[in-house]
Amino acid sequence: MVKVMEDTTATKTNPQPEITAQLGSLLANSRLHSSLLFAGRKGVGKWTVAQELAKAITCRENQQEYCGKCHSCRQADRFIHPDIYYLFPLPKEKEKEDKPSRYLSYLQHKADYPFADGSDDVTSFITIDSIRKFQTRLAHKASLSSRKVGIIYEAERMLPAAMDSLLKTLEEPPPNSYLFVITDQPRFLPETIQSRLLRVNFPLLTDEFIAAYLREHFPVAEEKITILTHLAGGSLYNIEFLVEGDYLRARETAFGLFENALRLAPADFQVKYADSATIATRDKVERLLRFWQSFLRDMAYLSSLPEGTPDDTASGLINFDLRERYGGCLQKITSFDKLYHCNECIEQVRQQLRRNVTPRMAAFSFLLDLAGHNL
Ligand SMILES: [Zn+2]
Repeated sequence: MVKVMEDTTATKTNPQPEITAQLGSLLANSRLHSSLLFAGRKGVGKWTVAQELAKAITCRENQQEYCGKCHSCRQADRFIHPDIYYLFPLPKEKEKEDKPSRYLSYLQHKADYPFADGSDDVTSFITIDSIRKFQTRLAHKASLSSRKVGIIYEAERMLPAAMDSLLKTLEEPPPNSYLFVITDQPRFLPETIQSRLLRVNFPLLTDEFIAAYLREHFPVAEEKITILTHLAGGSLYNIEFLVEGDYLRARETAFGLFENALRLAPADFQVKYADSATIATRDKVERLLRFWQSFLRDMAYLSSLPEGTPDDTASGLINFDLRERYGGCLQKITSFDKLYHCNECIEQVRQQLRRNVTPRMAAFSFLLDLAGHNL
């Protein structure tokens, strides 16, 4: 994928132009708070804005927008700026190694996929050791620029001792330094930390930005742009999966099973899918469950609309392009209670999958229940 970092000065590649402009203007007027909390859903541009602001703070030519050309800006682009320090969760064994390459590979990944997680390893945390190193560096005098920036990414993954230690930095910020604490889960930060940070709330991305991003970065047919933009729901966090994971085809498979379960006699349905590869593995069935859940949610939404609502009112649907096809399903499932019951079944099937039930049996169990044959 193309890097968006290369030309972030252009408004169309800036996911949050208003926030960037506001923070830039505060900086230019020497009114920028030294400790900021960037809060907002995953995939809405917190990372990109942090990068831009860090460059503006350290740029040697320009104070609000950064020049993009000076030595400082170029070092920042390569993540080797001596006055910009990063802290983010690393898996335990990798953190011990403390090799710069570990950090660089995380940062490079973020540069290539600025809206995705830096790592999907759930065992990654920010430990007291790594925050101490970070604090020591932030306390040093700036070497290339006149000011320093510390960026803590995925801050909710700080261990309690690390949070305590961070509090000391917030109580006595080193001179000429800025700290950005970035998280999509601000509620996991203690009140003592939150109260010392100036909170910047990141709204969801606009549909225009997401559509433009899709056009620029993926070879997607124009008629799919609207659907994918809607499915993205204001965040680019899952965009690679939505586009490259062939989301729409997978969803079609899921909807085919869903429709056929309602349409066919149970024996015919079981024969038709007895050897089907689409329900052969646990991963596939778990993914199907997520789709089925979204269909049920859409159907519940549609059945909650008042009588006489025009057919094109589908703005609350997850899969708004399936609007017409839901009609056929709703003829078979007429009550809200039934939809609710099916939603409960999804959870039960998830539990079955964790036990020894075969994926195929688990999928059948839900689909037959959906069609009312298990009751
Ligand atoms: Zn510069």
